[in-house]
Amino acid sequence: MKENDYLQQVAAQTGLQHYPNQGPWGRKSGSAIGERDGYATVIGTMRDGQGMKVAILLRFKKTEQPEIVKTTLKSAGIKKGKLGVVGNDFVRWEWKYSLAKPKPEEVAKLVEDLRAAIKPVTTGLDGRCEHCQSTSTPSPTLMNGVPTYICSGCQQKIHQDLDQAAMNYEAIEPNYPNGLVLGVLAAVLGGLAWGLVAYGINRIFLYGAILIGYLVAQAVIKGTRKVTRFGQILIPVLTVASVLFGDAIFYTLSVMKSENLPFSMKLLSTVIVHLWEIEREGSGILSLLFALVGAGSAAF
Ligand SMILES: [Zn+2]
Repeated sequence: MKENDYLQQVAAQTGLQHYPNQGPWGRKSGSAIGERDGYATVIGTMRDGQGMKVAILLRFKKTEQPEIVKTTLKSAGIKKGKLGVVGNDFVRWEWKYSLAKPKPEEVAKLVEDLRAAIKPVTTGLDGRCEHCQSTSTPSPTLMNGVPTYICSGCQQKIHQDLDQAAMNYEAIEPNYPNGLVLGVLAAVLGGLAWGLVAYGINRIFLYGAILIGYLVAQAVIKGTRKVTRFGQILIPVLTVASVLFGDAIFYTLSVMKSENLPFSMKLLSTVIVHLWEIEREGSGILSLLFALVGAGSAAF
């Protein structure tokens, strides 16, 4: 399995998010990064003198006694991998492998076990700046690839001290082509399902439109990797197109049935040309509104 796909699966299993090129270990495949129960977590692969490893980094509030974390972990009886490094606000656990990488679900289990093991002797990060302990800092910033709760004031100070770039989550490059492809795919599939379901139950199922809007929005955001202005314009457009496409399928199938006609492109295009007149008579406008509600709930 490619490292990128692997880390994506690890991210899915652990409830983290996969960021290519990010993380502390300088690999293209990046890391799965996020926060669980106040423990900032990074999972990635690293290579050192001993070979390839899956590395797990857990960060917590600074402790005066990292030795206690160390002994606790050593006596926790965790069988997969071994303790790498303990610092006063982090531990790194390493799972060496040769050819086959450890199964993503086993990595997820290991992360759970590690967190459970250190919980009694550490305190999770509480959404306040780790440096000044006062400013509310709800989301972590990547400092040298390590998720850190640090307010903008302290970041500036550190910027002056260290000539190193802080990589904010907000700086994740959106992937527009990907968002477009996934969005169009969701719109086509959603429209097809919409048309076929409507034909199957012989009426238009309005709440389905909300689902389509939601589906399209999720697909675009998943593709671009963040909510962007581009997505907020693309999502309603694709959603409307999807529902109209579904309606066209529904009406075409209905005409085929009632008039006993075979399917033809001519029939489909006739329906599309007259779609607006048909929509005005039925509940078309209403379904478009419902679809936009679904899209809006996910994208704004
Ligand atoms: Zn601060």
